[in-house]
Amino acid sequence: MIGSLPKTEINLNSQLPSTTVASALRWAVEVLAEAGVETPRLDAECLLAHAVGLSRLGLYTSRAKALDPVWVEAFEELVGRRAGREPLAYILGEREFWSLSIKVGPSVLIPRPETEVLVETALERLRQLTVHSSQFTEKNKDHQPSAISHQPIVVEIGTGSGAISIALAQELPEVYFYATELSPEAIQVASENIERYSLSSRVLLLQGDLFSPLSLLGLEGNVDMVVSNPPYIPRGHLSLLPPEVLFEPVEALDGSVDGLYFHKRIIIESPRFLKPGGWLALEIGADQGRAVTCLLEDSKEYRGIEVVQDYAGKDRVVLAQKSH
Ligand code: SAM
Ligand code: GLN
Repeated sequence: MIGSLPKTEINLNSQLPSTTVASALRWAVEVLAEAGVETPRLDAECLLAHAVGLSRLGLYTSRAKALDPVWVEAFEELVGRRAGREPLAYILGEREFWSLSIKVGPSVLIPRPETEVLVETALERLRQLTVHSSQFTEKNKDHQPSAISHQPIVVEIGTGSGAISIALAQELPEVYFYATELSPEAIQVASENIERYSLSSRVLLLQGDLFSPLSLLGLEGNVDMVVSNPPYIPRGHLSLLPPEVLFEPVEALDGSVDGLYFHKRIIIESPRFLKPGGWLALEIGADQGRAVTCLLEDSKEYRGIEVVQDYAGKDRVVLAQKSH
């Protein structure tokens, strides 16, 4: 019964007079606020909408309606999970990214809004390429991507839910994607997302460590862009993250001692695959712009190094071009 939710240590004494949509929401907002959830009203509405199979707008027009006890029970369970700080996206099973609905679960990082800046930055550069390739593609419609194809090729490292490749592939119908991921469980989720958007013919998933699954595909020197949001949290900071983040796979976040383990490897390994002039686009932590710029400069393989800020004005993406 709402008002006596058992699963958390939060004070649940607030009583619900009768179980209407409005009163259920009031109760949940109180429970979630007390649990320290940052957006209790929004979360309560999303959870109730999910429990009863309505949209949030639908809830507004049904505020006085009585809730079926089965729905009340389902809602209590969801609120209990959220009060235990399980991320909303895991409870709902999806997260909006680039206006797409991306299926998520505990084996994948929940796509972040900041990562849309990486997509946007990558998209700008790839659009320049596709203008040139489209005439060729028109004449060679039946060609599959290969080492000799003129169709642009993007490699994504650490695709997780597949969000980045899917967002780019939706925007760029001429581009082929090779997306690698170490975790087989994440590959399963990414594959469902790719299916959901009917992109399996252009987004190829490969399981393995960074670039190693690409080694037999003849892609060396033929890739137009390497894009990645690698794990970049310094190991010592992991325990300081909000409780929700601790539900996410540590392999998706842990960037080793300095947070830059994966950036270093990707910067070293990308030139083998990139065409001369091909792009490397990496998401970074807000304080990693300088360090990643130095890594790129020190490698002597890149030119045009640029740091791009997110909407909060924080460094979020580093972009560079393979110089020769
Ligand atoms: N691309 C997704 C996104 O932006 O939402 C997920 C990014 S998450 C920060 C990093 C991803 O890299 C995780 O899915 C993790 O499993 C994967 N990963 C970690 N180590 C890897 C490795 N050695 N090779 C390939 N992928 C790896
Ligand atoms: N932006 C994520 C966070 O702060 C980290 C993602 C990553 O390591 N790439 O939770």
